[in-house]
Amino acid sequence: MKNICSPYLEINLSAIYHNAKLIVDIGKSFGIFIDGVTKVSLGDPYIGRILIKAGVRGLSDSRIESIKRMKESGLDTEFTLIRLPCISQVEEEIKYADISLNSELETLKRLNEVGAKLKKKHKIIIMVEMGDIREGIWKKEELDLVIKEALKMKNLEVYGIGTNFTCFGGVIPTEEKYVDFLEIVDKIIKKYKITFSLVSAGNSSSLPLLFEGKIPKGINHLRVGEGIMLGKETAYRKTIHGARTDTFRLVGEILEIKEKPSIPWGIIGEDAFGHKPSFKAKGVRRRALMNFGRQDIDPEGITPEIEGIEVLGATSDYTLLDLGENEDLKVGDSIGFALNYSALLQAFTSPFVKKIYKEVDL
Ligand SMILES: *Cc1c(COP(=O)(O)O)cnc(C)c1O
Repeated sequence: MKNICSPYLEINLSAIYHNAKLIVDIGKSFGIFIDGVTKVSLGDPYIGRILIKAGVRGLSDSRIESIKRMKESGLDTEFTLIRLPCISQVEEEIKYADISLNSELETLKRLNEVGAKLKKKHKIIIMVEMGDIREGIWKKEELDLVIKEALKMKNLEVYGIGTNFTCFGGVIPTEEKYVDFLEIVDKIIKKYKITFSLVSAGNSSSLPLLFEGKIPKGINHLRVGEGIMLGKETAYRKTIHGARTDTFRLVGEILEIKEKPSIPWGIIGEDAFGHKPSFKAKGVRRRALMNFGRQDIDPEGITPEIEGIEVLGATSDYTLLDLGENEDLKVGDSIGFALNYSALLQAFTSPFVKKIYKEVDL
């Protein structure tokens, strides 16, 4: 790994496979299908491929471009668009996604029209708002109307009903929330005498309930990203028992090492991002500048692998470190970092961060 040009993101495919299989298998034991959510990786085909190998029901992504990328790489599974479809992109959505999550009648009408033109029956999951106040239908009359109209649309299949938690409002799924959700689902099933193939009720924040066997009967599907990618549930941000956390590491290079005061001097205005910076007085410190910045990571979301190093912050192209007692580090050396989900998302999105795969032929 020594000669790889940095910064780079090291992707440990066997660790990701391990986490996916762990979650898929526990799901299976409770009758719950797991979709692997690839959105943090922009639909990385290597990751998609090992998720399929680990037994996911299908792959879910928030961007149609990422689904297209996986499909064109030859991945053969059912693809779900988990962001609401864009009316301006409906053709691609129908062409590349088998299923999409929906909450707007106007969008469904368009999907139905274009489905007729493309001669493809598109599956939909109707999203219900349960308190996280992001996507989904909250008003009962509207939900009823959307289901009623969707059932009449010849080129759509009402394939599932779903809800989402812990994304915008921070609302944690509980058994009570699920009972409320299932009550809504049950009414629709009885009224329209239909069944839903998928009752898709959450993401990695539902993993604590899944592992305790407490997801009520009637729910049969979860869409899991972070739990697989980082080995963490997102309700309490704990490591999942038995999961691996060595899935990704970012490696960057030291561009400057200097002893400098920990506080700037002169008249202090704003930093490069319009914030008034604040500093702790720590005297003269040994500091390093790394070859990546806010364009590549979230400075709050990276943790140095070397003990005693502190991340001071980042500008667009530099990340600043306090090296502490690490006297032996020199210019040109590499330092590795663990990433949280937000930093990982940025590292994948940055064209400047190379992606290096471990154990590609898994
Ligand atoms: C991102 C997302 C997921 C996956 O969330 P994780 O917390 O990463 O498991 C599931 N469903 C929807 C609708 C999403 O947007």
